Amino acid sequence: MFSPSRSTNIIVLHGEYSVPIIILSIVIACCASYTAISMNQRMKHNSFFHKRFWLILSSLSMGLGIWSMHFIGMSAFMLPISMGHDVLLTIISALPAVFFSYIAFSFANRTVAKTRLSTLIAATVMGLGISSMHYIGMAAMKMEADYFYKPGLFLASIAIAIIVSFAALFVFSTLQKYMENYLIKMVTSVLMGLSITSMHYIGMSAVVFYVEERFLMSSHHMHKMDMTLLITAVTVGILLILVISGLTSILDRYVDHRISYFDLLTLFPNKRKFEQDLHHIDDSGSLAIIHIHNLEKWISLHGYAFGDELIKAVGKVIQDLKPISSKVYRIEENRFAVTVVREQESENLRTSMDNIATLLKKPITVGHHQILVEMVCALSHSNGDSKGKELFLNNMGILQHSSTSYSHEVIEYDATQHTYSFEAQIVQDISKAIANNELFLVYQPKICPRSQKVYGVEALLRWNHPNHGMISPGRFIPILEKTEQIYDVTDWVIGEVCNQGALWLKENVSFGQISINIPGSYVTSSRLLNRIKHYLSLFKIDSKYLELEITETSVIHNIENAIITVNEFRKLGLSVALDDFGTGLSSLSYLKRIPITTIKIDKSFVDGVPQSEKDSSVLKAIVTLCNSLKLTVVIEGVESKEQFEFISSMDERPIIQGYYIAKPLQEREFVAWIQDR
Ligand code: C2E
Ligand code: CA
Ligand code: CA
Repeated sequence: MFSPSRSTNIIVLHGEYSVPIIILSIVIACCASYTAISMNQRMKHNSFFHKRFWLILSSLSMGLGIWSMHFIGMSAFMLPISMGHDVLLTIISALPAVFFSYIAFSFANRTVAKTRLSTLIAATVMGLGISSMHYIGMAAMKMEADYFYKPGLFLASIAIAIIVSFAALFVFSTLQKYMENYLIKMVTSVLMGLSITSMHYIGMSAVVFYVEERFLMSSHHMHKMDMTLLITAVTVGILLILVISGLTSILDRYVDHRISYFDLLTLFPNKRKFEQDLHHIDDSGSLAIIHIHNLEKWISLHGYAFGDELIKAVGKVIQDLKPISSKVYRIEENRFAVTVVREQESENLRTSMDNIATLLKKPITVGHHQILVEMVCALSHSNGDSKGKELFLNNMGILQHSSTSYSHEVIEYDATQHTYSFEAQIVQDISKAIANNELFLVYQPKICPRSQKVYGVEALLRWNHPNHGMISPGRFIPILEKTEQIYDVTDWVIGEVCNQGALWLKENVSFGQISINIPGSYVTSSRLLNRIKHYLSLFKIDSKYLELEITETSVIHNIENAIITVNEFRKLGLSVALDDFGTGLSSLSYLKRIPITTIKIDKSFVDGVPQSEKDSSVLKAIVTLCNSLKLTVVIEGVESKEQFEFISSMDERPIIQGYYIAKPLQEREFVAWIQDR
């Protein structure tokens, strides 16, 4: 293998390369790398197909890519003798390339930390794979000449395959998160492609082709390897991979779309699609919602499969009886929606709903049972300017109305009767809001005018409600304060704040302190103290980074209790601020019995400043008084330059919060804001 087998008088043959075919081989290697990386990326996304499916596709693309690159490279090579190849060995040589690519991609996608050593082991495996593919491919050559390998270059080619694999694996596992960027992905593919080809051509330079001297060459004409068939097969193969991977990506996206927008049980569009389409119902459409009552009863009696059958049976009834041009959705476990968009169809919708209700008055067959489905249908028509969302809320008003029963009726919306209760929906929706990530926090900075530094931020709650859009906390917090749910919401805020604070500390964002608004009834509850301790230790954040904002109304009713509670907070190391100071009736000297650290002066004291001399002196007096009590003073709602300058010119220089400094900012906005300063 490493020396000529016939020692007597040999003639070494010198090969030549066809440049265009070399270029083709490089292009193929780069394309294969690109496809492999793309397939590999699909694995990162939530896909309908199993991860292994994408792993196999990416190793197929990579392996067959390396393989076809090799044979195209071989056909670029010309010798003054005729050359051919052994078909079986040629095909077999593809196996190690695919197999070792699979191992390499599995390695690159491992989530556990990769050490240099493990990368080296994987690279060795992959390098040996590429080399064995190459040398099996060489063994597949059939020709009149013999060949041997120069040991040095032979080993060098294997070493290079390993080094190149190491580099590729390293780049691939560290750069993987940047692969979404097309440019980086393309550059990586080109690098990978070039590496693969360079290994091949170094491997080729290790080969010495020779013939015996007595072997008289019939001509000195250079022969390419007869590879027309092979090149065709390889090209078709590569195209096939590209097409298959393209098709599977499209299929994957389509499946994703179906799952996202359609109900898998009834195959009707789902709530998400419904919410999108609701926008298209404008001044002339109608909406019906069919509510199935007591679904849980049937499920608990006969099991989930039965519940599914029941829903399917009702879905079938609706599908059969709905107006032709209408659209049916399954919007909740036990609710269907039917929409029409033209006024002329409203009457048809009413008739259809009546028919459905009448049919469901009689028992229907579900599985082996005859059951009576309890239902009601809510119906509302657009009256010229009401939009889809409003129709939906009207129908909810009907379904939630106390007079509504489930006696197979079709009830049309009546504005005088079915006023939809916003409060009821808020209370009903808040638990879902937490689970569905509809709540988030924004952060409003407070600054110290003396040092210009950020003194702290106030965490303010936002709710992106699916039907109402952004609802202000000023609207929903007072509603929730009437129920115990405000405790869950506050706990969520505390957890979020502790988590965020810990992250900012890690990122060296100097936020000072984060303050949390604590609703009145929660302040003195022992649950609050426990939750705070829990989150502080869960996120390993020091209590000095937190401040609680409480209002005077929450402490005034039971001041003795408040003193004890606030003392507990202080013992834990938290700051405590009295929010909205000045809006209640109590005097500061009375409030000072509570061991608070900070006073937040309400916006109403700043509004008239500095134009009104009276307001300005009242503000000054309050600040002076607070200062004499050794309290930190924060002035809220500072909106103008004049207000800011007036406050900054005071001797005491209180802390300033307000739109003039910054509006409440989303987390990333806040970090950018602080970095800009
Ligand atoms: P608050 O505690 O007095 O919060 C200050 C409110 O004033 C915030 O309104 C803030 O965006 C707004 N604001 C700040 N600077 C200016 C300014 O220069 N001009 C004007 N016009 N407004 C300014 P937001 O975020 O709408 O919150 C309203 C109220 O809702 C808060 O009043 C607070 O009582 C309550 N809230 C907000 N988040 C939470 C929370 O997480 N938990 C509880 N329990 N209540 C919260
Ligand atoms: Ca506040
Ligand atoms: Ca306030």
